[in-house]
Amino acid sequence: MSKCLFKRYKYLLVLALFCVTFILLIPKYNNTINDELKIHYINVGQGDGILIQHNGSNILIDGGPIDSSNMLIDYLTKNNVKKLDYIIATHPHDDHIGSLPYVLNYIKVDNFLAPKITSNTPTFVNLTKKLKYNNLKITPISAPKTVNLDENLTLNFISPKEISYDNINNYSIVLKLNYHNFSFLFTGDAEKEIENFLTSSNIDLNSTVLKIGHHGSKTSSTENFISKVNPKIAIISCGMGNDYGHPHKDVLKRLNNHNVKTYRTDKDGTVLVKCNKTNLKVLLEK
Ligand SMILES: [Zn+2]
Repeated sequence: MSKCLFKRYKYLLVLALFCVTFILLIPKYNNTINDELKIHYINVGQGDGILIQHNGSNILIDGGPIDSSNMLIDYLTKNNVKKLDYIIATHPHDDHIGSLPYVLNYIKVDNFLAPKITSNTPTFVNLTKKLKYNNLKITPISAPKTVNLDENLTLNFISPKEISYDNINNYSIVLKLNYHNFSFLFTGDAEKEIENFLTSSNIDLNSTVLKIGHHGSKTSSTENFISKVNPKIAIISCGMGNDYGHPHKDVLKRLNNHNVKTYRTDKDGTVLVKCNKTNLKVLLEK
C-alpha cells in the first residue's frame, strides 16, 4: 500500500476498528445488565409454586393446587414467560402438581424433572396424559446431580437418593441454587428424615434463602437443619387459614430464635427475591 493510499484509507481503518471493538463489547455489556436473578415465591394458596428467572431462562418449581391454575398462568404471562426451560415437580401431591397439566396447555415446556415415584391420583394421571400429548418425557431425578444453567447459575440436586421411602413427601426433590455469593435451598415437602440425612452428610447446606419444607409443618425444619442451613431469609408457602395449621408455631419460634427474617405467602402474598452479583432485595405483594 502506498503512503498516499494509506492516508486515504486511514480513517476507514480507524472506523472499522471502532466497529469491531464495539461489536465485541456488546455481549459483555448485555451480560452485565441481564445478570439479575429473580425468584418469585408465588402465592398459590396452600401449596408451592416458585418461578426462577435469569438471563431469559425460566424455571418453575411446582405449580400449586388445581384451583390456582388460572392465577398461575396469568402470573407467568404477566412476567413474560413464553417458554419454561424446566419444570421441576418436587413430588406428586396435588398441592404441588395440581396446576401443572394446565400450565402444559398454555406454555411450551422444554424439560420436565420429577422424582422416580408415580401416583394414581386423577391429577397425576391427567399430568402424565398432558406430558404425553406434548411429547415430553419425565426426566427422573436422583441425587446427586448438577445442572449448570450458565456460568453464574448452578442447580445442585441433593435429594432424593435412589432408594425407597415410606412417605411420598420424602421423595421431594431438594435442590440448592448457587448464584454468585448467594444460594437458595428448595426443599419441597421433605420431612425430618431427609433433613437428618442431609445434615449427617457432608453436603454444604449453608444458604442465604431457605424455602421452608412442607409449608412450615412441624414434620420439617428441625433445629439441626436450620442451624446447618443457617439462612438469612426463610419463606413459608401456605394458604391463609389452611386446615393443617401451617405454619406450626414451633417452626416460627425456631426461625425467630435463629434471627431468620421470615416471610409467608399467606400474609405477605407473593414474595419476590431479586438479586445481582452483590445485592439482594425482597419485594412483597402485600
Ligand atoms: Zn405440600
